[in-house]
Amino acid sequence: MSDFANKVALVTGGSRGIGRAIAQTLAKRGATVVISYAGNEAAATETVKSIVDAGGKAKAIRFDVADSEACGKAVDDVMKEFSRLDILVNNAGVAIDGLLMRFKDEDWDKTLDTNLKGAFSLMRAVSRPMMKQKGGSIVNVSSIVGEMGNAGQAAYSASKAGLIGLTKSIARELASRNIRVNCVTPGFITTDMTAGLNEELKKKMADAIPLSRIGNAEEVANAVAFLASDHASYITGEVLKVNGGMYM
Ligand code: NAP
Repeated sequence: MSDFANKVALVTGGSRGIGRAIAQTLAKRGATVVISYAGNEAAATETVKSIVDAGGKAKAIRFDVADSEACGKAVDDVMKEFSRLDILVNNAGVAIDGLLMRFKDEDWDKTLDTNLKGAFSLMRAVSRPMMKQKGGSIVNVSSIVGEMGNAGQAAYSASKAGLIGLTKSIARELASRNIRVNCVTPGFITTDMTAGLNEELKKKMADAIPLSRIGNAEEVANAVAFLASDHASYITGEVLKVNGGMYM
């Protein structure tokens, strides 16, 4: 399938995990993919190499999505180099866990600034070029805990619930410009973010999932690619669960 031929995509947090799988999936289907990363240059280089080795087009850029000026500059740079931007995937995220009583202001701010303000800044930055192009597609990577809540993840779940509201508002705002805005809410997916959990907890979680297993990054990437594609041309403001039935 080459339904993304001649399209340019920006995938934040494309160096590892779900973002890497999204970048590889979009590139496999013909998109030129710009991945962003926060600091892990080796992982970003590996993602780009995997795409180029498979015959695709990709480059990596480093910036902090929590820095709104840097987000604006990143989009300007992509426009200068490629003259278009068709797809934005706001995937970069951090999960800082902790119980309410001991949770620090700085951890709250870092979580909200990265997961929520980052998506806002980038959507604001891409809106102008996408309007000029008369179309575009934005996919935000939220989380099941934004829908369900989770003890010990107040900041993370607030940021992800906020991302759902943000998605719906911007979907309404940009619909008349032929820009669709959707989000996915992955459940429990194997990546570095979940690697630290002990085996007992992982087994307990898998037992609570109707499909009886933890998901993988490619399964999230397929859902993101669907929403980004013309196959989803009449879908905007949607929240697509990719969670094995863990939350319905
Ligand atoms: P991950 O393996 O920890 O990777 C996080 C990615 O985000 C990396 O590419 C990282 O860049 C980038 N990043 C982090 N902070 C950033 C910042 N301030 N500026 C720019 N980039 C930044 O995470 P993941 O598990 O693939 O998760 C990807 C997304 O899916 C996140 O939004 C996460 O909340 C969401 N999600 C994950 C799960 C799950 O079970 N894994 C479930 C639901 C939702 P570096 O490589 O440079 O550090």
